[in-house]
Amino acid sequence: MAMIVCMKCGMEYRVSKCGGYAVEMFSEPPIPYRITLGDVLECPGCGEKVMGRFAEKGTYYHEPGFEALLAATRKPEAVTVTVWETTDDALNAKLLNVRKVMRVISKGIANETNVQ
Ligand SMILES: [Zn+2]
Repeated sequence: MAMIVCMKCGMEYRVSKCGGYAVEMFSEPPIPYRITLGDVLECPGCGEKVMGRFAEKGTYYHEPGFEALLAATRKPEAVTVTVWETTDDALNAKLLNVRKVMRVISKGIANETNVQ
């Protein structure tokens, strides 16, 4: 694995948890489109955390098992980071659509509940 070093402390990040989820968002309004498993790394100096060491492919929204995986990312014990598109347009859309995203997420949970 490539070395990841804290810019503030000059210390190498260490794995603090294996098996976190990165939920990548895209489109307008943003929707989850890929989920990738990664590890949470933590700076032993300042405690800053990042996620990395991802599985290569991840699971895309059109693939079998995506909805179940998305539900797993929302369980209380799950460690999940939402990954936003980083273009200026996407950042602006994110700021304008936080409420819409929350509605989409709520709808996903409601759908999961109905299935069970
Ligand atoms: Zn640090």
